[in-house]
Amino acid sequence: MLRPEGLYCPPGDFYIDPWRPVDRAVITHAHADHARVGHAHYLAAAPGVGVLRARLGTEIDLQLLPYGEAIDHHGVRLSLHPAGHVLGSAQVRLEHRGEVWVASGDYFVCGADADAGIANPTCAPFEPVRCHCFITESTFGLPIYRWQPQHELFAEIDAWWRANAEAGRASLLMGYSFGKAQRILAGVDPSIGPIVVHGAVQTLNNAYRAAGVALPETQLAIDVADKALFRRALVVAPPSVHGSVWTRRFGEHSDAFASGWMQLRGARRRRAVDRGFVLSDHADWPGLQRAIAATGAQRVIVTHGYEAVMVRWLAEQGLEASAFQTEYGDEQEGAAEAQPEATPGATAG
Ligand SMILES: [Zn+2]
Ligand SMILES: [Zn+2]
Repeated sequence: MLRPEGLYCPPGDFYIDPWRPVDRAVITHAHADHARVGHAHYLAAAPGVGVLRARLGTEIDLQLLPYGEAIDHHGVRLSLHPAGHVLGSAQVRLEHRGEVWVASGDYFVCGADADAGIANPTCAPFEPVRCHCFITESTFGLPIYRWQPQHELFAEIDAWWRANAEAGRASLLMGYSFGKAQRILAGVDPSIGPIVVHGAVQTLNNAYRAAGVALPETQLAIDVADKALFRRALVVAPPSVHGSVWTRRFGEHSDAFASGWMQLRGARRRRAVDRGFVLSDHADWPGLQRAIAATGAQRVIVTHGYEAVMVRWLAEQGLEASAFQTEYGDEQEGAAEAQPEATPGATAG
């Protein structure tokens, strides 16, 4: 199942999120480490059409499949199911001769009991799929990762923005332009002040809005004529703007970073920002446990970070557990961000 090109389905003769060019690629979501250029044929969940084309170009050969609808490929029944991670993110369910495998891709499930059932409002919520074998991501697969209830987190972000606005300074909140930025926009209280964004964020905002996701009004930083507006504004931009000339237009401002990694002691200090908000589009440790249990799988293959700890925990639960070494990046490396920021014009916004 694992080849140098990526996760491979031998009877179906296709790959899931391959990292080298292949003929047939099933794409779980449009983050750059999962959706790469150069494949001959792409298959992805229908709601992701706009974000995929925004990132990979409009000319890719893309077949779309609505969530839950199955197709047959060489005797393998394939369907895609919501992963709750970003717009269009999907788990891949494969059924062959009565054996069911599910490859999760990246997914978000709220682990906190107070938050159970609360989903990422910018995409369809994670749907547990019963299977014999579950290939799970494990980006935050350590017991230290436990997300606080989401309404508490957004109350903290709002309070920080409000205090800055009252003091007459801009609030620069950095987070990845695809997924994280829209999650921030959907969660904050837009009555506090105007919302200004970087061009890389606006491109994705437009794709989300086109897919019917409600986001508050946002304006491009370069379009703002009256600089006084910045003093009450929330500015949402990718991490690459930090310390760049792009931020000079805001004058004195407070800066913050939104990421699951902010839970690590010292992460905020290393980033050299005023605030760190622990906001992730991945499942935390209890969320991973909840999601894995809900599949009913007896066999679990762990990918995408901290495999050893998760494999050991699963084995202790009596499951058959192992790991795959994949070439997916993580939020920390920002692999998912490399592309849009390199696009000419994006940095100007
Ligand atoms: Zn992702
Ligand atoms: Zn990933």
